[in-house]
Amino acid sequence: MATLSRNTDELARSQGTDFFATDDLLTTEELSIRDRVRAFSDEQLIPVANDYWERGEFPHTLVPRYAELAVAGGTIRHYGCPGMSPLADGLVALELARGDGSFSTFNGVHSGLAMSSIDLLGSEEQKQRWLPTMARCDKLGAFALTEPDHGSDVVRLETRARRDGDYWVLNGAKRWIGNGSIADLVLVWARDEDGHGDVGGFVIDRAEDDPIGYHPSVITGKTSNRALWQADIRLDNVRIPADNRLANSRTFADTNRCLTKSRQTVAWEALGHAIGAYECALAYAKQRKQFGRPIAGFQLIQDKLSHMVADITGMQLICLRMAQLQAEGRVGLEHASLAKLNTATGARRVCAMARDILGGNGILLDHHVARHHADMEAVYTYEGTDTVQSLIVGRAVTGMSAFA
Ligand SMILES: Cc1cc2nc3c(=O)[nH]c(=O)nc-3n(C[C@H](O)[C@H](O)[C@H](O)COP(=O)(O)OP(=O)(O)OC[C@H]3O[C@@H](n4cnc5c(N)ncnc54)[C@H](O)[C@@H]3O)c2cc1C
Repeated sequence: MATLSRNTDELARSQGTDFFATDDLLTTEELSIRDRVRAFSDEQLIPVANDYWERGEFPHTLVPRYAELAVAGGTIRHYGCPGMSPLADGLVALELARGDGSFSTFNGVHSGLAMSSIDLLGSEEQKQRWLPTMARCDKLGAFALTEPDHGSDVVRLETRARRDGDYWVLNGAKRWIGNGSIADLVLVWARDEDGHGDVGGFVIDRAEDDPIGYHPSVITGKTSNRALWQADIRLDNVRIPADNRLANSRTFADTNRCLTKSRQTVAWEALGHAIGAYECALAYAKQRKQFGRPIAGFQLIQDKLSHMVADITGMQLICLRMAQLQAEGRVGLEHASLAKLNTATGARRVCAMARDILGGNGILLDHHVARHHADMEAVYTYEGTDTVQSLIVGRAVTGMSAFA
């Protein structure tokens, strides 16, 4: 006898989990943006997410619909960007991740990392040149920082930029670069050989410059974030115009400003995964009968659900306050790291409990929780592993750096 809804996508529809009524703190505009992206996730993303995930394909067809949402560029003002509040920008990341982690990572890379870096460190001319076309998603962005030999210690990156007349010549290797094989604009972080080895950001415009020597290969065999392609990239004497170096990128401290911004987005993403997994588990527990009644009526299931919603409510309050601080320009790397530490750890726990509540269906893609559970492993790792967030917060609270 069928006891579960045949349409498992219904399990994943938003239930608007908001135990402490944080919606009351949102402006009309923030609510409107949130609802627009929530509807996109429920109606367009969730119905196709499992299929793309299983096939390891990126849903290119959703990019024009994402563009129509008019959220690319997040908090950036002017240049055709939405100029949202940090809170609205965070809610976009949350709602996309609640739908699908791969697509929210696409948003995080394109809008959060690539566009924000150009906005933070580009000249006026560079912003005019790149941001409007990226806001329309006519050109997609990537952010190439991590290297095969430098992940957590990426401050030691080895990719080189050499000045040659009116060009920069890039050599090196990058790893794990989201959109690295499909992006038109790839922001590569490299050491300026002529400038005391300081780190700068160099934009490769693959559409305009058709750079010979840019060799991306998609990383296969992933068990997480399968519907977004990350690439290994080899840079062999890639020549780019001299004015493609981000004008205000001079040292790794500038790179860190970009990471501080995008790490906040990742904290919201983790919250989105937690809510997605929790809501599926709650809906499932109300439908699934064992021992003659819905499992939601059993004390131990309720205990799990209560801990999950307690975790989520704490994360919502941290993210909300972080957005308020960001609006006041008061978020440092340690704040972003604390938020990501909190939400990634909590969301991983929530996803594991959701997976447990679904029994065997917890490892089936079509019940959605398995995807959140697997995708949280990527969130837990990128933008700095959990351990690295601990070291950053630890340095802030002790005044002593535990980094080598
Ligand atoms: C799905 C995905 C998408 C990504 N997207 C991008 C992207 O778009 N652009 C980009 O530039 N990068 C991207 N990354 C790279 C990501 O930021 C790195 O994977 C991350 O920084 C960790 O680096 P690593 O994988 O080399 O691990 P490592 O640095 O090798 O870490 C291995 C282990 O050692 C631990 N460790 C390291 N140092 C210390 C220490 N001092 N003390 C204690 N423990 C330590 C780590 O916590 C971890 O447990 C992505 C990664 C993934 C998985």
